[in-house]
Amino acid sequence: MNKELHIVVCVKIVPKPEDVTLKEDNTLDRANAESVINPPDKNAVETAVSLKERYGGKVTAISMGPPFFDDFMRLIMAMGVDDAILLSDRAFAGADTYPTTLTLAAGIKKLGDVDLVICGEESSDGGTGNVPPGIAEWLGWTQATYCHEIDYDEIQSRFVVKRSVSTGYEVISIPKPAVVSVELGVNSPRFPNFYLKQEYDQSYKVTIWDAKALNLDPETVGLKGSHTTVDSLKSSKGKERKKQFIVGSPKEIAEKLATIILENM
Ligand SMILES: Cc1cc2nc3c(=O)[nH]c(=O)nc-3n(C[C@H](O)[C@H](O)[C@H](O)COP(=O)(O)OP(=O)(O)OC[C@H]3O[C@@H](n4cnc5c(N)ncnc54)[C@H](O)[C@@H]3O)c2cc1C
Repeated sequence: MNKELHIVVCVKIVPKPEDVTLKEDNTLDRANAESVINPPDKNAVETAVSLKERYGGKVTAISMGPPFFDDFMRLIMAMGVDDAILLSDRAFAGADTYPTTLTLAAGIKKLGDVDLVICGEESSDGGTGNVPPGIAEWLGWTQATYCHEIDYDEIQSRFVVKRSVSTGYEVISIPKPAVVSVELGVNSPRFPNFYLKQEYDQSYKVTIWDAKALNLDPETVGLKGSHTTVDSLKSSKGKERKKQFIVGSPKEIAEKLATIILENM
């Protein structure tokens, strides 16, 4: 009899891209920014919950961030997730991907008995895409990134994933436990059930683990454990688009269009 699956989904809460600014010490200024669930992480949650509905088991959401993330964790639970863990400690602040992956891997190890970790392909603020493979590296697990579909072969106890490659797709079979990332838009994430959210707001306490609970040396996490710092953030002005209305008969419009295209080649 196959053991029920335990799937962990990594969810990052990000400042709305248009609100991203930097503080004096070059860490992100979240105070004035509206926060949202990182878009591809909603696809990761939907993938995890669908797998659970097909093969049984449970889904745990995990996030590293400041205490106010807990309300988002209950929102994610209202999408069909069973449990939520928040890794939160002032020592975790300002982390680059090295300590971020160390901390998330420590949280997943502490959870124990995990078969699959599902992440989004990248975050909308840092956008490095380093975290999924980084977590796999700390755990010594197999990884598959930029996945389109994830299925479970119950007979082989292996995951079958379809992932994008430069020449199209590849379908690979990977052993348990594994870390995967899913691409933005691979599915239509279900809406949170707001009655459930209200219920969780009343009754569900998000488990919070700090550096001590994770047995992590504060010197190895957050800004102290980082090898990179973001020096500055410059917003690039998009190219000014020229609008030109072409009038005339369809034949005249086609001729003018051909001339413009040829002139700009
Ligand atoms: C503008 C900018 C540039 C940056 N450049 C770098 C850089 O070059 N190198 C570097 O090491 N750091 C960099 N950072 C810091 C980096 O953003 C943070 O370390 C961040 O916590 C993790 O990296 P990411 O956002 O790139 O995640 P990604 O690797 O892009 O995220 C992929 C997936 O990992 C999961 N994930 C990521 N963060 C968390 C979290 N906190 N909790 C739960 N799941 C998570 C989510 O599923 C997410 O979809 C940068 C930050 C900013 C704002």
